[in-house]
Amino acid sequence: MCGNVGVWGYRSYRQHLEDRFPGRRIRKLCLQAGFTCPNLDGTVARGGCAYCDNAAFAPGLEGPPDLAGQWDRGRAFLRRRHRRVDGFIAYFQAFTNTHAPLNRLRRLYDGVADRLPQCVGLSLGTRPDALPPATVEFLTDLARQTFLTVEIGLQSDRDDLLKAMNRGHDVASFHDAMRRTDGRGFERCVHVILGLPGEGPDAPERLGDLLAGLAVESVKIHNLHAVRGTGWGRAFAAGHLAVPDRKAHVDAVHRLMARLRPDQAVQRLVADAPDRLLLSDSWCQDKRGVLESVWRLASGVPKGPCR
Ligand code: SF4
Repeated sequence: MCGNVGVWGYRSYRQHLEDRFPGRRIRKLCLQAGFTCPNLDGTVARGGCAYCDNAAFAPGLEGPPDLAGQWDRGRAFLRRRHRRVDGFIAYFQAFTNTHAPLNRLRRLYDGVADRLPQCVGLSLGTRPDALPPATVEFLTDLARQTFLTVEIGLQSDRDDLLKAMNRGHDVASFHDAMRRTDGRGFERCVHVILGLPGEGPDAPERLGDLLAGLAVESVKIHNLHAVRGTGWGRAFAAGHLAVPDRKAHVDAVHRLMARLRPDQAVQRLVADAPDRLLLSDSWCQDKRGVLESVWRLASGVPKGPCR
Protein backbone atom coordinates (compact mmCIF):
# COMPACT_ATOMS: atom_id res chain seq x y z
CA MET A 1 0.00 0.00 0.00
CA CYS A 2 1.27 3.46 -0.69
CA GLY A 3 0.37 7.04 -1.38
CA ASN A 4 -2.79 8.39 0.16
CA VAL A 5 -4.16 5.02 1.14
CA GLY A 6 -1.31 3.93 3.44
CA VAL A 7 -0.36 0.74 5.20
CA TRP A 8 -3.79 0.11 6.74
CA GLY A 9 -5.63 0.16 3.43
CA TYR A 10 -7.28 3.53 3.99
CA ARG A 11 -6.15 7.07 4.59
CA SER A 12 -5.74 7.41 8.33
CA TYR A 13 -6.11 10.69 10.15
CA ARG A 14 -2.52 10.31 11.29
CA GLN A 15 -1.43 10.42 7.66
CA HIS A 16 -3.73 13.35 7.06
CA LEU A 17 -2.13 15.31 9.90
CA GLU A 18 1.35 14.34 8.71
CA ASP A 19 0.47 15.97 5.38
CA ARG A 20 -0.94 19.05 7.10
CA PHE A 21 1.96 19.36 9.56
CA PRO A 22 5.00 17.90 7.75
CA GLY A 23 7.69 16.49 10.01
CA ARG A 24 5.58 16.88 13.14
CA ARG A 25 3.60 14.32 15.10
CA ILE A 26 0.30 15.90 16.10
CA ARG A 27 -2.25 14.50 18.58
CA LYS A 28 -5.77 15.57 19.46
CA LEU A 29 -6.30 16.62 23.05
CA CYS A 30 -9.86 16.62 24.43
CA LEU A 31 -11.08 19.71 26.26
CA GLN A 32 -14.41 20.23 27.99
CA ALA A 33 -15.68 23.78 27.68
CA GLY A 34 -19.02 23.29 29.45
CA PHE A 35 -21.35 23.50 26.48
CA THR A 36 -24.85 22.08 26.45
CA CYS A 37 -26.65 20.49 23.50
CA PRO A 38 -29.78 21.73 21.71
CA ASN A 39 -31.09 18.18 21.87
CA LEU A 40 -30.79 18.16 25.66
CA ASP A 41 -31.54 21.67 26.82
CA GLY A 42 -34.91 21.99 25.09
CA THR A 43 -33.80 24.19 22.19
CA VAL A 44 -34.67 21.32 19.86
CA ALA A 45 -35.69 18.59 22.29
CA ARG A 46 -34.96 17.13 25.69
CA GLY A 47 -33.66 13.68 26.45
CA GLY A 48 -30.98 13.63 23.78
CA CYS A 49 -30.08 11.02 21.21
CA ALA A 50 -31.07 7.47 22.12
CA TYR A 51 -27.44 6.39 22.28
CA CYS A 52 -26.10 9.45 24.11
CA ASP A 53 -24.69 9.08 27.58
CA ASN A 54 -26.20 12.28 28.92
CA ALA A 55 -26.22 11.18 32.55
CA ALA A 56 -23.14 13.31 32.92
CA PHE A 57 -24.89 16.26 31.34
CA ALA A 58 -24.51 19.48 33.30
CA PRO A 59 -25.87 22.84 32.14
CA GLY A 60 -22.44 24.37 31.85
CA LEU A 61 -19.44 24.18 34.13
CA GLU A 62 -19.47 26.20 37.29
CA GLY A 63 -17.45 29.24 36.40
CA PRO A 64 -15.23 29.47 33.35
CA PRO A 65 -13.69 26.20 32.24
CA ASP A 66 -10.12 25.71 33.37
CA LEU A 67 -8.83 25.17 29.84
CA ALA A 68 -5.19 25.80 30.81
CA GLY A 69 -5.35 23.14 33.53
CA GLN A 70 -7.09 20.65 31.24
CA TRP A 71 -4.52 21.38 28.58
CA ASP A 72 -1.54 20.78 30.88
CA ARG A 73 -3.01 17.56 32.23
CA GLY A 74 -3.88 16.39 28.71
CA ARG A 75 -0.43 17.14 27.39
CA ALA A 76 1.21 15.23 30.25
CA PHE A 77 -1.10 12.27 29.63
CA LEU A 78 -0.49 12.16 25.87
CA ARG A 79 3.26 12.49 26.37
CA ARG A 80 3.22 9.47 28.69
CA ARG A 81 1.14 7.54 26.20
CA HIS A 82 2.99 8.31 22.98
CA ARG A 83 6.69 8.19 22.23
CA ARG A 84 6.61 11.38 20.22
CA VAL A 85 4.28 14.37 20.24
CA ASP A 86 5.24 17.67 18.60
CA GLY A 87 1.97 19.53 18.87
CA PHE A 88 -1.67 19.22 19.85
CA ILE A 89 -5.07 19.99 18.38
CA ALA A 90 -7.52 21.27 20.98
CA TYR A 91 -10.49 18.97 20.53
CA PHE A 92 -13.77 20.26 21.92
CA GLN A 93 -15.65 16.98 21.73
CA ALA A 94 -18.38 16.72 24.37
CA PHE A 95 -21.86 18.02 23.61
CA THR A 96 -22.34 20.77 20.99
CA ASN A 97 -19.39 23.11 20.84
CA THR A 98 -20.99 25.82 18.71
CA HIS A 99 -24.24 25.94 20.68
CA ALA A 100 -23.78 29.28 22.43
CA PRO A 101 -24.19 32.98 21.74
CA LEU A 102 -21.58 34.40 19.44
CA ASN A 103 -19.92 36.47 22.15
CA ARG A 104 -19.30 33.34 24.21
CA LEU A 105 -17.85 31.52 21.20
CA ARG A 106 -15.57 34.51 20.55
CA ARG A 107 -14.39 34.66 24.17
CA LEU A 108 -13.63 30.97 24.14
CA TYR A 109 -12.11 30.33 20.74
CA ASP A 110 -10.59 33.62 19.59
CA GLY A 111 -6.83 33.33 20.03
CA VAL A 112 -7.08 30.11 22.04
CA ALA A 113 -4.51 28.37 19.84
CA ASP A 114 -2.02 31.11 20.80
CA ARG A 115 -2.83 30.87 24.50
CA LEU A 116 -2.37 27.11 24.81
CA PRO A 117 1.26 25.97 24.54
CA GLN A 118 2.01 23.80 21.48
CA CYS A 119 -1.56 24.13 20.19
CA VAL A 120 -1.58 23.88 16.40
CA GLY A 121 -5.31 24.01 15.79
CA LEU A 122 -8.85 23.36 16.92
CA SER A 123 -11.42 20.68 16.28
CA LEU A 124 -15.03 21.43 17.25
CA GLY A 125 -17.72 18.76 17.51
CA THR A 126 -21.20 20.01 16.67
CA ARG A 127 -24.59 19.32 15.07
CA PRO A 128 -25.99 20.47 11.71
CA ASP A 129 -28.58 22.65 13.45
CA ALA A 130 -26.02 24.47 15.60
CA LEU A 131 -24.32 26.26 12.72
CA PRO A 132 -26.36 29.40 12.07
CA PRO A 133 -24.99 31.91 9.52
CA ALA A 134 -23.32 34.19 12.11
CA THR A 135 -21.55 31.20 13.66
CA VAL A 136 -20.36 30.05 10.24
CA GLU A 137 -18.95 33.56 9.64
CA PHE A 138 -17.15 33.40 12.97
CA LEU A 139 -15.71 29.97 12.15
CA THR A 140 -14.55 31.33 8.81
CA ASP A 141 -12.62 34.05 10.68
CA LEU A 142 -11.29 31.49 13.14
CA ALA A 143 -9.96 29.36 10.29
CA ARG A 144 -7.83 32.34 9.22
CA GLN A 145 -6.17 32.25 12.64
CA THR A 146 -5.50 28.54 12.98
CA PHE A 147 -6.06 25.06 11.56
CA LEU A 148 -9.73 24.33 12.20
CA THR A 149 -11.87 21.26 11.74
CA VAL A 150 -15.62 21.25 12.34
CA GLU A 151 -17.00 17.79 13.13
CA ILE A 152 -20.65 17.46 12.15
CA GLY A 153 -22.84 14.59 13.28
CA LEU A 154 -25.04 13.10 10.59
CA GLN A 155 -25.28 9.56 12.01
CA SER A 156 -27.77 8.25 9.44
CA ASP A 157 -28.80 9.06 5.89
CA ARG A 158 -32.46 8.23 6.63
CA ASP A 159 -34.97 10.50 8.33
CA ASP A 160 -36.87 7.58 9.88
CA LEU A 161 -33.70 6.40 11.63
CA LEU A 162 -32.80 9.90 12.78
CA LYS A 163 -36.27 10.16 14.22
CA ALA A 164 -36.01 6.75 15.90
CA MET A 165 -32.81 7.84 17.62
CA ASN A 166 -34.30 11.22 18.59
CA ARG A 167 -31.59 13.19 16.81
CA GLY A 168 -33.80 16.23 16.54
CA HIS A 169 -32.71 17.07 12.98
CA ASP A 170 -33.26 15.56 9.59
CA VAL A 171 -31.03 14.73 6.64
CA ALA A 172 -32.00 17.96 4.84
CA SER A 173 -30.71 19.95 7.82
CA PHE A 174 -27.35 18.19 7.47
CA HIS A 175 -27.11 18.97 3.74
CA ASP A 176 -28.07 22.57 4.44
CA ALA A 177 -25.24 22.84 6.97
CA MET A 178 -22.84 21.28 4.48
CA ARG A 179 -23.79 23.81 1.82
CA ARG A 180 -23.42 26.75 4.17
CA THR A 181 -20.04 25.60 5.50
CA ASP A 182 -18.61 24.79 2.10
CA GLY A 183 -15.43 26.61 1.02
CA ARG A 184 -15.05 28.44 4.34
CA GLY A 185 -11.40 27.59 4.89
CA PHE A 186 -11.94 25.00 7.60
CA GLU A 187 -11.95 21.24 7.29
CA ARG A 188 -15.04 19.20 7.93
CA CYS A 189 -15.43 15.73 9.42
CA VAL A 190 -18.75 13.86 9.31
CA HIS A 191 -19.81 11.29 11.91
CA VAL A 192 -21.95 8.28 10.96
CA ILE A 193 -23.16 5.19 12.82
CA LEU A 194 -23.16 1.69 11.34
CA GLY A 195 -25.40 -1.06 12.65
CA LEU A 196 -28.52 0.99 13.35
CA PRO A 197 -31.69 -1.09 13.65
CA GLY A 198 -33.51 -1.05 10.32
CA GLU A 199 -30.69 0.68 8.43
CA GLY A 200 -30.95 -1.85 5.56
CA PRO A 201 -28.34 -4.24 4.18
CA ASP A 202 -26.84 -1.62 1.87
CA ALA A 203 -26.24 0.99 4.59
CA PRO A 204 -22.41 0.87 4.33
CA GLU A 205 -22.52 1.49 0.58
CA ARG A 206 -25.19 4.20 0.89
CA LEU A 207 -23.28 6.05 3.58
CA GLY A 208 -19.95 5.58 1.83
CA ASP A 209 -21.35 6.99 -1.42
CA LEU A 210 -22.95 9.90 0.40
CA LEU A 211 -19.68 10.76 2.19
CA ALA A 212 -17.61 10.36 -0.98
CA GLY A 213 -19.89 12.88 -2.69
CA LEU A 214 -19.24 15.51 -0.03
CA ALA A 215 -16.34 17.94 0.13
CA VAL A 216 -15.25 16.64 3.52
CA GLU A 217 -11.69 15.83 4.48
CA SER A 218 -12.41 13.13 7.05
CA VAL A 219 -15.07 10.87 8.54
CA LYS A 220 -15.69 9.10 11.82
CA ILE A 221 -17.46 5.75 11.85
CA HIS A 222 -19.19 4.61 15.03
CA ASN A 223 -20.50 1.13 15.76
CA LEU A 224 -23.82 0.85 17.53
CA HIS A 225 -23.24 -0.25 21.09
CA ALA A 226 -25.39 -0.18 24.20
CA VAL A 227 -24.41 2.24 26.93
CA ARG A 228 -25.82 2.32 30.44
CA GLY A 229 -28.13 5.23 31.17
CA THR A 230 -29.21 5.74 27.55
CA GLY A 231 -32.52 5.00 25.85
CA TRP A 232 -30.96 2.34 23.70
CA GLY A 233 -29.07 0.95 26.67
CA ARG A 234 -32.42 0.33 28.36
CA ALA A 235 -33.82 -1.19 25.15
CA PHE A 236 -30.79 -3.48 24.90
CA ALA A 237 -31.10 -4.57 28.53
CA ALA A 238 -34.78 -5.37 27.92
CA GLY A 239 -33.91 -7.46 24.87
CA HIS A 240 -35.47 -5.02 22.39
CA LEU A 241 -32.31 -3.90 20.65
CA ALA A 242 -29.68 -5.97 18.87
CA VAL A 243 -26.23 -4.53 18.29
CA PRO A 244 -23.79 -5.75 15.64
CA ASP A 245 -21.03 -8.12 16.62
CA ARG A 246 -17.41 -7.54 15.72
CA LYS A 247 -17.54 -9.48 12.47
CA ALA A 248 -20.57 -7.56 11.21
CA HIS A 249 -19.00 -4.22 12.09
CA VAL A 250 -15.67 -5.06 10.48
CA ASP A 251 -17.48 -6.10 7.31
CA ALA A 252 -19.60 -2.94 7.29
CA VAL A 253 -16.60 -0.66 7.90
CA HIS A 254 -14.67 -2.32 5.11
CA ARG A 255 -17.57 -1.83 2.71
CA LEU A 256 -18.10 1.79 3.68
CA MET A 257 -14.42 2.66 3.42
CA ALA A 258 -14.20 1.04 0.00
CA ARG A 259 -16.57 3.78 -1.24
CA LEU A 260 -14.62 6.74 0.18
CA ARG A 261 -12.35 8.85 -1.99
CA PRO A 262 -8.61 8.17 -1.52
CA ASP A 263 -8.15 11.72 -0.20
CA GLN A 264 -10.69 11.26 2.59
CA ALA A 265 -9.24 10.25 5.92
CA VAL A 266 -10.91 8.02 8.50
CA GLN A 267 -10.54 9.47 11.97
CA ARG A 268 -12.29 6.61 13.72
CA LEU A 269 -13.66 3.23 12.70
CA VAL A 270 -14.90 1.97 16.03
CA ALA A 271 -16.18 3.73 19.14
CA ASP A 272 -15.85 2.23 22.59
CA ALA A 273 -17.08 2.95 26.09
CA PRO A 274 -15.62 2.16 29.51
CA ASP A 275 -16.57 -1.12 31.22
CA ARG A 276 -18.68 0.67 33.81
CA LEU A 277 -20.94 2.02 31.02
CA LEU A 278 -20.81 -0.62 28.31
CA LEU A 279 -23.73 -3.05 28.34
CA SER A 280 -23.07 -4.76 25.01
CA ASP A 281 -20.03 -6.88 24.18
CA SER A 282 -16.60 -5.38 24.83
CA TRP A 283 -15.08 -6.22 21.42
CA CYS A 284 -15.26 -2.50 20.54
CA GLN A 285 -12.59 -1.78 23.16
CA ASP A 286 -10.03 -3.69 21.07
CA LYS A 287 -9.58 -0.89 18.54
CA ARG A 288 -6.25 -2.20 17.27
CA GLY A 289 -7.75 -5.65 16.74
CA VAL A 290 -10.69 -4.20 14.80
CA LEU A 291 -8.28 -2.17 12.69
CA GLU A 292 -6.26 -5.28 11.90
CA SER A 293 -9.42 -7.22 11.01
CA VAL A 294 -10.48 -4.48 8.58
CA TRP A 295 -7.01 -4.53 7.08
CA ARG A 296 -7.08 -8.34 6.70
CA LEU A 297 -10.44 -8.13 4.97
CA ALA A 298 -9.20 -5.39 2.62
CA SER A 299 -5.91 -7.06 1.80
CA GLY A 300 -6.92 -10.72 1.87
CA VAL A 301 -3.84 -11.66 3.92
CA PRO A 302 -4.05 -13.46 7.25
CA LYS A 303 -1.83 -11.17 9.36
CA GLY A 304 -1.91 -7.44 9.98
CA PRO A 305 0.91 -5.06 9.03
CA CYS A 306 3.57 -4.13 11.57
CA ARG A 307 4.27 -0.50 12.32
S1 SF4 B 1 -26.25 15.70 19.69
FE1 SF4 B 1 -24.51 14.79 20.77
S2 SF4 B 1 -24.51 15.65 22.85
FE2 SF4 B 1 -26.49 16.10 21.90
S3 SF4 B 1 -27.83 14.44 22.64
FE3 SF4 B 1 -27.03 13.83 20.64
S4 SF4 B 1 -25.15 12.65 21.05
FE4 SF4 B 1 -25.72 13.77 22.95
